[in-house]
Formats: sequence, structure tokens, C-alpha cells
Amino acid sequence: MKSIRLKPGKDRSLHRRHPWVFDGAIAKGRADAGETVRVEDAESQFLAWGAFSPDSRIRVRAWSFDAQQRIDAAFFRATLARAIALRERLAIASNGVRLVHGESDGLPGLIVDRYGDTLVAQFGSCGVERWKDTIADALIELTGCPRLYERSDTSSRELEGLPQVTGWLRGDGPTALELHEHGWRLGLDIALGHKTGYYLDQRDSRLACHEYVRRLGLGEVLNCFSYTGGFAVAALAGGASHVTSIDSSGPALEQARANLALNGLDPARATFLDADVNASLRRFLAEGRQFDAIVLDPPKLAPTVAHAERAARAYKDLNRLGLKLLRPGGVLLTFSCSGGIGVELFHKIVASAGLDAGVDAAILQRLGGAPDHPTDLTFPEGEYLKGLVVMRKP
Ligand code: SAH
Repeated sequence: MKSIRLKPGKDRSLHRRHPWVFDGAIAKGRADAGETVRVEDAESQFLAWGAFSPDSRIRVRAWSFDAQQRIDAAFFRATLARAIALRERLAIASNGVRLVHGESDGLPGLIVDRYGDTLVAQFGSCGVERWKDTIADALIELTGCPRLYERSDTSSRELEGLPQVTGWLRGDGPTALELHEHGWRLGLDIALGHKTGYYLDQRDSRLACHEYVRRLGLGEVLNCFSYTGGFAVAALAGGASHVTSIDSSGPALEQARANLALNGLDPARATFLDADVNASLRRFLAEGRQFDAIVLDPPKLAPTVAHAERAARAYKDLNRLGLKLLRPGGVLLTFSCSGGIGVELFHKIVASAGLDAGVDAAILQRLGGAPDHPTDLTFPEGEYLKGLVVMRKP
């Protein structure tokens, strides 16, 4: 077993059970991609078992902080079984569930989503890449699902020096599937869609949108960064008179149209714009348009803290425009899925957007990722998704 020796004082984060070791913390030691290593402090004391990533700035990701733990097939099976059992206990009201959420489930780099009896996995680090077959077999056995599709086409693979890989890993079948969420039917394609095909993390926020529209009787809704129209279905099912959805992806909007039809929603109550959100918001402002509810769910603008400042300006501008376009008494559901923007900072950004917009507004509710996307207490970076429900005062 190869050892990775840390520099003096660089063992603090592992003592706090944070699972990452950066390249700059290492005094000596090397291993192959994904090989299990013993991480030790400057005095050779055991700290963790981890997987080595020779090309990544995150050089080791910890599997276990228990010196007695063997990193073998049984370890992966047991860890996966715990993650799957948690989701069963959560009794998520959908057939689309995140079964494994990376670091927070003790499997750094691994994402597994279940859509009905189809599993979709992303292997985002050298460690899970090396154990791919073991993981795939265990997933099939533990879930009873007959098929597993691989979507290892994330940008994090490049940082790990791994090639992009997609395709059936176990079994095969159609890639166009139907998800049932809160009683709504949502079509998706696990091969062509974003991520593993759908944004399961926003499940409870889509329900919140539905509820605000229904309870407050909100009529005209603007759904920015709509993807396949999850929030549009939620708002229309809640009684919205009209939903305008904007996205820069044509195929996503095609799927959004199909999703309205799947739910028997009148296409006359919906407009789809294949356009840039920023430009569209400015145009609506110039035209004097206003809305009763606005959803702002942009893509990750700040992947890491290093991008936070520029991203903060972009978020502020979006939210300023959003608040200006809101009728008094209307509601803004605004989100950030940037790991580099914390909850506090996001609150500040939206507050200063409100000041710039010259509107009085109040936070009604804070939103976050659905519970099948947990954040380990030792891994605050895992808390990437945050949202605010803001009402413009009547
Ligand atoms: N709200 C969606 C998820 C949104 S993901 C849901 O609940 O499912 C972000 C979306 O923003 C993607 O679909 C992407 O195509 C779109 N997007 C990214 N940049 C954009 C831009 N500048 N203008 C419009 N859409 C954009």
C-alpha cells in the first residue's frame, strides 16, 4: 500500500474529516490514477484511506478515516447500500431520485440518479473510475434495476485527466423516459439531457412554485432558464393564466412543449422563447412588461470561490431586472447553484439588487436542494443550491 505524506500542519482538514487533500499539502508520495493510498501526517500517523488523482489539484479524496477499514468491493457495496437505504427512508414522492450524492454519501465524485428502473451514473473522479465495475455491479444488485447508463461527460472529468464517456454500462433500453413528480409527468432523455437528464435537486422548489402560484392566485409567470419546463408545468398546474419560458437550448424547449402536452395543459397558456435571458429581461423592461411571478434558475455562474466576484455581479444584475419586472404583490423565486456563492452572500446579492431596482421586498422563504441531495456536515462545499422566495411589497 502506497503512502502519501502530508506537510506539517496540512493535516487539519482531514482531522475535521473534510475529504479532500490538495496537491500543495503533500510532502511526498505518488500512486496510479484511482489507486488506494494511506494518507499520513508529517509524523507518519494514519489520517485516512483515499483515492489518488495524479493530475488533479484535488490530489486525494478520502474513502475512510478508519485505519481498520479495507477499501474493497465489500466497502463499496456497504457504502452504496447505506446511501440507497437513506433514500428509501426519505420516501421521496417521485420515481426520479438521487441515490448517491458524491462526497456527502462517502463516495467522492460519484453521482447516481434513478429514473424508474433506469439508473444513470456519473463517475467524476479517478477513485470511482477505478472501481467502476464493482460499483456498477453493486448498484444493479442493490436496486434491482436492470440497466445503468453512464453520463461521465462532466467538466470535472477533464480536471481528473479522464476522457468523456457515455453509454450503457449495464443492460440497455430506451433513453427517453418519463418522470413522475408531484403528480406531474415530465419527459426527459438521459442520453441527450443536461447532467443525468433532469434537475432532480429542484424538485421541492418546483412544488414551492406551484404552491405560491396557487395560494396567492398568481396569474402571469415568467420562467427564466426553464430547461424542459418543470417550473412551467408546476405553475400552470397551480392555476397560472400564462407562463413564458426562456431558455437558450432549443431541444430543452421542445421537451418543455411536450411536457405541457403530457400534462394536458393548454398550449395557449404558454410561450416559449429560445433566447438569452439577460437580453429578454432588458427587452421586457423596455416594453414595460410585468409579471406576477418570476423564476430565475440560472446555470452555475461561479463553480468555485475564485469566480465568485464576477458571478456576484451577474446574479445581482439578473435579480435587479427580475425584481423590476415584478408587479407589486408578485413573487420572485431566485436560485444560485454555484458552490462558490454561499447562502449569506446570495442573500446580500439579492438585497442589493432590490436596492438598485428601487423596490421594497421581503423574503418569504428560503429554499435549498431536495433531501436526496444531502450536504455532509464535514463538506460545506456540498451545499451548492440555495434559493429565496421574495415578495415585492404590494
Ligand atoms: N429550472 C430548470 C433548470 C435550469 S438549468 C429545471 O427546473 O429543470 C439552467 C438552464 O439555463 C439550462 O437549460 C440552459 O440551457 C439555460 N441557459 C444557460 N444560459 C442561458 C442564457 N444566457 N439564456 C437562456 N438560457 C440559458
